[in-house]
Amino acid sequence: MLNQLTISELAAKLASREVSAREATQACLDQIARVDGKIHAFLSHNTVDALAQADAADKAISSGAKKPLLGIPIAVKDVLAVKNQPLNCGSKILGNFISPYDATAIEKLKAAGAIVFGRLNMDEFAMGSSTENSAFGVTKNPWDITRIPGGSSGGSAAAVAADEAIATLGTDTGGSIRQPAALCGVVGLKPTYGRISRYGLVAFASSLDQIGPLTKDVRDAATLLGVMSGVDPRDSTSVPQPVPDYVAALDGNIKGLKLGLPSEYLIGGLDPEVKAAVDAAVKQYEKLGAEIVEISLPHTDYAVATYYIVATAEASANLARFDGIRYGLRVEAKDPTELYRQTRGAGFGAEVKRRIILGTYVLSSGYHDAYYLRAQKVRTLIRNDFLKAFETVDAIVTPTTPTAAFKIGEKSDDPLQMYLSDIFTISCNLAGICGVSLPCGFTKSPKLPIGLQLLGKPFGEKTLLKLAHAYEQSTAWHQEKPPLAPAG
Ligand code: GLN
Repeated sequence: MLNQLTISELAAKLASREVSAREATQACLDQIARVDGKIHAFLSHNTVDALAQADAADKAISSGAKKPLLGIPIAVKDVLAVKNQPLNCGSKILGNFISPYDATAIEKLKAAGAIVFGRLNMDEFAMGSSTENSAFGVTKNPWDITRIPGGSSGGSAAAVAADEAIATLGTDTGGSIRQPAALCGVVGLKPTYGRISRYGLVAFASSLDQIGPLTKDVRDAATLLGVMSGVDPRDSTSVPQPVPDYVAALDGNIKGLKLGLPSEYLIGGLDPEVKAAVDAAVKQYEKLGAEIVEISLPHTDYAVATYYIVATAEASANLARFDGIRYGLRVEAKDPTELYRQTRGAGFGAEVKRRIILGTYVLSSGYHDAYYLRAQKVRTLIRNDFLKAFETVDAIVTPTTPTAAFKIGEKSDDPLQMYLSDIFTISCNLAGICGVSLPCGFTKSPKLPIGLQLLGKPFGEKTLLKLAHAYEQSTAWHQEKPPLAPAG
């Protein structure tokens, strides 16, 4: 089945003319027709447009064009602007908004030849860990449709796991790529802050947000990172660091690399099966020649609290633009103030409102110094913990999540429990470093994927991916398919 292939496998078949981009795209569309009624990873997709892009790719291939993603169907999270496609951010507030332009990351995918199709479900404005906060219904985990796929990029992870796209894009503000990747059994990479331009990514928390790939293997993550990285004059926080050849770095040789094991990550709520899988992965790394070093990240305990101050403060400012005047939904009222109130009241869901209220509070005069300013200081302490650790280790290894996928509804009434499911992923965003989640096992009954997280130095994606790839290639976890995908 063509839809089950990785980017590198499909690219080889396209280049040798064994298959066409139209056949590959059709295979993804057929899979969507077959399984998405159960999974609900997609909010929408345009079949005619996807096939037209595929035909253009086939034409380019037959005229000898060579591009890294030529003819590869890639679907994107509903928070990224794709010209002439809907852009809703999993929210009602944008109404029938159609994006008039491409995000820089999308522009780069298209320039590399990708077929960019489909809008993937997400927690509203990327606020959540389960996709239950989508205004358009929950996405189901392909491994067990009574369970959540993680979030906020739940649609992106589920679509890859269910082979509805060859790869997808997500965004990660506090774990939203890595956590759903872990819970759906795929690879998810959050690049260093500044590695990929955020232009055309609808902002949640601007100092934390990053775009990244969700893929079937590490090589594909490296390919997409290489295509999307680089400085962009339209995003002043993108960094003019050279973009290395990430794929060439995947040489399997990790002898002598040092992996840090933080003592603070052995928390009470860590599921024994998750712990066992991560312990086994650490042993595997030793076998492969890596050196394991115990490290300490002493300010870890403060990460979740710090994040929920910084992220909500930034969100309250960013989401002020949805006022019913400039674009999206409008609820008419007698005066502008009432129009704002009615529009925002009707357009935003409960979690988004909770965050706006919290963020407005921590920024308000009298509380700003006690909350926001203090959180910024703690954020620096958290970053310094990592920079200090990286003086002695090349990367840090942790579980991605404390448990495997939970049941739909299990945590939706308890925001604090939901926030705690990101306990291992949040520090990475506060520190601005890079991180990846990759499959490292399954729970027994029910059989659910477990994710291993590797955290790397700022702009250390090369080493991070090399480490991830070496482990992946010495195990078979990434080759397992959920029961929904038809065999062979
Ligand atoms: N789950 C976290 C939150 O709700 C992280 C979300 C994200 O990374 N976008 O904010």
